[in-house]
Amino acid sequence: MNRTIELVKTIYEIKQLEDFSEAQIALAGRSNVGKSSLVNRLAGQKKLAKISSKPGKTRSLNYYKVNPDGYFLVDLPGYGYAKCSKTERAKWAKLIEAYMRDNPQLKAVAVLLDSRLSPQKLDLELTSYLRSLGIPVIPVLTKADKPKQRELAKLQSQWQEILQQDRAPVLFSSKTGKGEEKLWNLLCEFAQL
Ligand code: GDP
Repeated sequence: MNRTIELVKTIYEIKQLEDFSEAQIALAGRSNVGKSSLVNRLAGQKKLAKISSKPGKTRSLNYYKVNPDGYFLVDLPGYGYAKCSKTERAKWAKLIEAYMRDNPQLKAVAVLLDSRLSPQKLDLELTSYLRSLGIPVIPVLTKADKPKQRELAKLQSQWQEILQQDRAPVLFSSKTGKGEEKLWNLLCEFAQL
């Protein structure tokens, strides 16, 4: 299917949050996990989402409308940037919490995980937070063009166990396009729930 992605809204503060009637799937992940590259890959555009030379710079929530399906992909600010101040971190957490809580249109969160790293503390914290809110997690292992197949398979089963899911995490590469179709199908499936 020929899909298009269009940036329709950017927000920086809790008071700018608004209720949309469309289904939403959020994209979350640590800074530098490859989130902007993934959005650009899905959009088929090189520069839609900024590929950050300075990680941790994007502090906004970006709403992308996916057509013709009609749902939103909501790009959340990357977390865990080491040089980010405590105040800044607390602000991030408050904005994300305000967005996620009491949002019946949020159908799932695609959590991006670096396929070169073992499960990281902040990723585990986010996934257990989502579980406590009852929000489904779509795990995506990014930069999957890098590790060996055997290592990818090991990480996949590790995450499956942590998340208690039957389905293996999507192996995704913005570089090669690996996993792109699979991810689209999953997003569409969850957006219709
Ligand atoms: P963000 O901070 O999560 O938005 O991450 P970016 O999309 O800016 O990517 C961070 C770095 O990882 C950049 O240097 C990208 O070129 C690199 N990167 C992103 N996706 C991939 C991928 O699929 N494969 C490889 N090998 N590198 C990637």
